[in-house]
Amino acid sequence: MKHAGGDGPADREAMSTCPGCGLAAPAGDGPCDPYSGSSAACWAAFNQVVAKDYGEYRYPAVHQLIVDAYMSQHATFVTPAARRSVLVHLVGLHLAFERGMERAAIGRLLGQVFPDKRDVPPLTPKPPPGPLTIAWVLAAGDAEDHARRGRAWALSVWTAWADHHGQIRSLAEQALARGDHAGAG
Ligand SMILES: [Zn+2]
Repeated sequence: MKHAGGDGPADREAMSTCPGCGLAAPAGDGPCDPYSGSSAACWAAFNQVVAKDYGEYRYPAVHQLIVDAYMSQHATFVTPAARRSVLVHLVGLHLAFERGMERAAIGRLLGQVFPDKRDVPPLTPKPPPGPLTIAWVLAAGDAEDHARRGRAWALSVWTAWADHHGQIRSLAEQALARGDHAGAG
């Protein structure tokens, strides 16, 4: 992976390494994600990608994958909400990659993973982040490249979590069963 700049002493700009994906970038002083799984620079890159999704790319299908992949790659287990979030977003990746579900159906189903908001054990060990980062998605040249990179990066994140795929599939099945009972049409 390419890193910005050389090895020489950075004049004033300190570098940061994202705890979630390993992205090396000039340290920013902005916020990180709600569960403290990212560096400020990485979170800023994610928000730029989201802005492109809602703006010039007109909310493409790959948007759901991008959100699910980002939150999965930057997993933390610091609060009950953080622990649920990792699992919910991994279920999203499963539904897309292994069940071929569309974004709208995935969005509806993710609310059925933990409707009771119960606490869950941390999904450990967290795997290495995989070879790709959101910065690579952000560097896409056009909408087609954006979709291609977003999908490839999301698949690399899903693959990295292979040791936990069984648990994620079973959560998805439970959510699907609840969705059937909910009877929404
Ligand atoms: Zn990151």
